[in-house]
Amino acid sequence: MLRAIVRRCPRCGSRRAWFRSWFAQGERCVGCGLRRTRGVDGHELGALTIGLVLNIGLVIAAVGIAVALTVPDVPVVTLYVILASAAIVIPVVTWPLTHTIWIAIDLRVRPVSDDEAAEAAAWLAGRDGQPS
Ligand SMILES: [Zn+2]
Repeated sequence: MLRAIVRRCPRCGSRRAWFRSWFAQGERCVGCGLRRTRGVDGHELGALTIGLVLNIGLVIAAVGIAVALTVPDVPVVTLYVILASAAIVIPVVTWPLTHTIWIAIDLRVRPVSDDEAAEAAAWLAGRDGQPS
């Protein structure tokens, strides 16, 4: 999980994991060959759920703290502008983390099978001979 929080592959710790850029993702981790979706349709719904919980939770916590600190003169318009901006920026910043965190949870619940490990190793072996 610690690896996932810093945007690394939860399985091997590869810094690039399966990311090609902040938003673009490849099919497999470049460090261990683990398939990003792990062969499950709809796998990214888990990352979406993590993102929703994380981002809505942060905004609700920020609203609570801001209101608690400014009662009785709550600056509603200022809070609205700041929190609306945060509601746009936070998902962009945390987007890749939601994927690595979801894979970490998935790996904990559903460890890599022997077949999946062999497939990943075969992909890595085939990839080693090719320029990337
Ligand atoms: Zn990996």
